[in-house]
Amino acid sequence: MVKYLAMRKQINIARGKPCKEQLDLSNPMFEDIDYSFLSEENVDVRNYGAIEGLKETRRLFADLLDVNIENVVIGDCSSLNLMFDCITRSYTHGVNGSTPWCKLKKVKWICPVPGYDRHFKILEHYDIEMISIPLNDDGPDMDIVEELVKDPAVKGIWCVPKYSNPTGIIYSDEVINRLARLRPAAPDFRIYYDNAYFVHDLYEEIKIPNILALAEQNGNPNLVYEFISTSKITFSGSGLSAFISSEHNVKEFLKFLAIQTIGYNKITQYLHSKYFKSVEDVRKHMQKHAEIIRPKFELVNKVLEEKLTGYASWSKPKGGYFVVLYVDNLAKEVVEECKNRGLVLTDAGCAHPYHKDPNNSLIRIAPTYIDIEELKEALDILVDVILSLKK
Ligand code: PLP
Repeated sequence: MVKYLAMRKQINIARGKPCKEQLDLSNPMFEDIDYSFLSEENVDVRNYGAIEGLKETRRLFADLLDVNIENVVIGDCSSLNLMFDCITRSYTHGVNGSTPWCKLKKVKWICPVPGYDRHFKILEHYDIEMISIPLNDDGPDMDIVEELVKDPAVKGIWCVPKYSNPTGIIYSDEVINRLARLRPAAPDFRIYYDNAYFVHDLYEEIKIPNILALAEQNGNPNLVYEFISTSKITFSGSGLSAFISSEHNVKEFLKFLAIQTIGYNKITQYLHSKYFKSVEDVRKHMQKHAEIIRPKFELVNKVLEEKLTGYASWSKPKGGYFVVLYVDNLAKEVVEECKNRGLVLTDAGCAHPYHKDPNNSLIRIAPTYIDIEELKEALDILVDVILSLKK
């Protein structure tokens, strides 16, 4: 039996990864390379320098988010790394001259749930107390957020404003406005605005308000740290990320960065900027992604509708990388049994701080990586397991 299981094929729908076809979309970046390797400002991208990123790459990201070049720093391949670095720096050296968090008795953080498991892992790593609050269909419950920020020990909130991981919800204009108007007791409170899916629409393009501009208008110029990356635009783990914030915060960020590193990979920036000359180029490219992955999301919805209506509920996202399936009180059992049958899902509880899903209900499905035939097999297993446990 053990041998049989070891030999059997495993299907993995645990992580939100692009499939090979999606990665191939960006291969032309390596064709017709301009071997001068000179940036627009005549920086030789193979050499040291331009720690803040190439001007043309900063401009592209600035245009995508409707901010100024001065608000953007380009990072290496992982935005999660930038988030980790920001929290680490706050922990060791404080924020903008405030007491380093490591010297405080207690540091707390607002975590809208369901949320992104790796956000929670960073906080766990630093022993920051996570306060779970509801993530509604229009974003975090802002009445609760506004109450919680009155506590000076509360230093941050995770926000994934568009196609939130994992529920796929989009913050309403009202929620984004209320975030921008927050009056936290802690001067070192920051909104960690992880805009990972900012151009990842499956259907029409959806725009959300520019939180940086709103925060500035509301007298909160330094409140927001925004993060994006090209992980699901070009290459996951081999693309670019960006930190976007007020000029003041960018200066603070760069001060530390200059100690932390000699610079990020500018060849990747150069290649990306040659490939994407404008926002329009990125939009067109993202439509190609949508064409590849949309049928996968539609298949998930079709199968769940046909087979699980009355037994479970699920999300119908218009973008992003995940579908969530709610199976009251059975998530752990479903994940375990699927694993026995060769289907790997993210652990039950992954979307909640400390792995505690109070209803043992949420299962995260990441349908993009595998091909459509495998996805059918995966869904068959999943449905079968759920129905057998329900009966
Ligand atoms: N943030 C969110 C909300 C994500 O879903 C992911 C990946 O799944 C990441 C960040 C990771 O981004 P990166 O590859 O830029 O580190």
